[in-house]
Amino acid sequence: MYYMSTRDKTVKLQSAEAIKKGLAEDGGLFVPNEIPKLTKKEIEELVPLSYIERANRILKKYLTDFTAKELSACTEGAYGNRKFSSSDVAPVVKIGDNQYILELWHGPTCAFKDMALQILPYFMTTAMKKTGEDRTIVILVATSGDTGKAALEGFKDVDGTKIVVFYPCDGVSDIQKLQMMTQEGNNVYVSGIQGNFDDAQNGVKEIFTDKEAEEVLQAGGYVLSSANSINWGRLVPQIVYYVSAYCDMVKNGEIKLGEKINVCVPTGNFGNILAAYYARKMGLPVAKFICASNKNNVLTDFIRTGEYNKNREFYSSVSPSMDILISSNLERLLFDISGGDDKRINRLMSDLKKEGKYKLTKALHKKVTDLFWGGFCDDYFTKEQIWKTFEETGYTLDTHTAVAVDVYHQYVKETGDTTKTVIASTASPFKFNADVLSAMGENPEGLGDPELLQLLHEKSGMEIPASLDALKEKEKRFDGVIPKEGMFTLVRKFLNV
Ligand SMILES: *Cc1c(COP(=O)(O)O)cnc(C)c1O
Repeated sequence: MYYMSTRDKTVKLQSAEAIKKGLAEDGGLFVPNEIPKLTKKEIEELVPLSYIERANRILKKYLTDFTAKELSACTEGAYGNRKFSSSDVAPVVKIGDNQYILELWHGPTCAFKDMALQILPYFMTTAMKKTGEDRTIVILVATSGDTGKAALEGFKDVDGTKIVVFYPCDGVSDIQKLQMMTQEGNNVYVSGIQGNFDDAQNGVKEIFTDKEAEEVLQAGGYVLSSANSINWGRLVPQIVYYVSAYCDMVKNGEIKLGEKINVCVPTGNFGNILAAYYARKMGLPVAKFICASNKNNVLTDFIRTGEYNKNREFYSSVSPSMDILISSNLERLLFDISGGDDKRINRLMSDLKKEGKYKLTKALHKKVTDLFWGGFCDDYFTKEQIWKTFEETGYTLDTHTAVAVDVYHQYVKETGDTTKTVIASTASPFKFNADVLSAMGENPEGLGDPELLQLLHEKSGMEIPASLDALKEKEKRFDGVIPKEGMFTLVRKFLNV
C-alpha cells in the first residue's frame, strides 16, 4: 500500500513518509491508494481480543511499511501502561433502546483527541527512524482547547521531538487553560496569544510556509511537523475504535455478527466521522452515518443541499470543539466518493478558497445522502438534552456528546429507523463542568474548578478524572501571553536558534 495526495494521485509515499510530512506539498491530504478489507471472519476473530490486539490487526493493514514489532510497540506505548482509566480503552455503554455510547474520553486529557494523539508520537518517532531522519521534529500546534493539551501530553518527553502550543488567551475554557499552563515535560512550551483561534492558526500556518523560518530551523537541526487532524497518523487510529465498538457489541450479545448498526458523531473537522466511514469501507456493517453539528451547521447544510458554504456567521457555542466553519477532512470523503478524481478535488478546493463555497453535482450529492444524514442543535437544545438524558437514564453527557444525542433523536423522529446506533462520546462531562452543571439545574456561578468538579461528582455519581483532580496541586509553568505577531520569535527563543 502507498499514500497519494487528494490533489495529485501520482504522489506515492510509504505511510512513514506520509505521517512525517503531515500534509502533501500540493496542499492535499494523504490517503491510502486502496482501502483494505476486513472480512466477516476477521471481525469474528477480533471479538475476543483486547483493544491493543484489535488495534494491531487493523493498523497493520494501513501502515504496511511498519513491522509487527514496531506497531505493537506503538499500541502498547499508547494504550497500555494504564494510560487510559478504562482497561477497555474505549468502552461502549448502553443508555437506552438502540442507543450505545462509545466513550472515547478515558485518556489522560479526558477528550477523544487522546485516542489519536497518544499514539501519533510513537508513529512519528518510528517514522523518523525508518526514514533516517536525524533532525529534531518540532510540533507546532494552534488549539482551541482539546487538541493542544492532548498533543502536549502525547509528545511530552518524547525523544527527538519538541512541541510548542499556542492558544487564544480568551478562547478556551478555564480547565483547558489550566491543563495547558501546568503542562509537564522538558520538551514543551505553551503560550497564550492575544487574538482568537484563527489568529493562532494563521500564525502557525505562516511559520510553516515561511522559507526563511525553514532555513533558520534547518540550520539549528530542526524540522517542523504538525499534529493536527489532517495527519493520516491521527485518522488511522480512529478507525480502530469503531471496529472495536462493534466487536464489543457482538461480544455482549447486543448484536449478531453481520448485523448493521448506525453511527452518530458530534462533528467539527470531519475527522472522527470519516474514520467511521473508512471502517465501513473496510467491511464493518454500518448502515447510516448521522453527522451532528452545533449552531455552526455548515455540514448539515452541505449534506442536505450538496453545497458547502462557509460564508456565514461564526458562533461561539457551549460545544467549542465543534465551532468550525472549514471541515478539512471532508476533502478525503470527496476524493473517495468521486472515485479518486484529483482534478475535481483541485477545482472544489480552489472554489472554496476563492469564493468560500463549492457545489457537488447531483450524482455526487446522492452518494453523500445515501450514507449520511445531517442535523444540528443549538446551545439551548444541547443543554436541554443533557438534562433530559440525565433525568431519563441517569447518564451524564458532556456538551459535545449532547449535540450528537439530540441529533440522533431528531433522526429517529424523522425516519423511524430503529437500527442500533453507536453514538461517539467525545469528552468527559468534567471537562465542561460549568455548562453541564447549569444544564442539570445547578448554579455554577462564582465557583472555582475544584468546587465545580466536586459538585459534578456529587450530582452525576461519576468519579472525578484523576488528571483533572490533580490540576489544583500543579504548578503553573506557562502563564505567558504574547501578541500574535510574536509567535515565531517565541519559537526561536525556545529552540535557541
Ligand atoms: C475535536 C472534537 C470534536 C470534533 O471532532 P472532529 O474529528 O474534528 O470532527 C468533537 N468533540 C470534541 C470534544 C472534540 O475535542
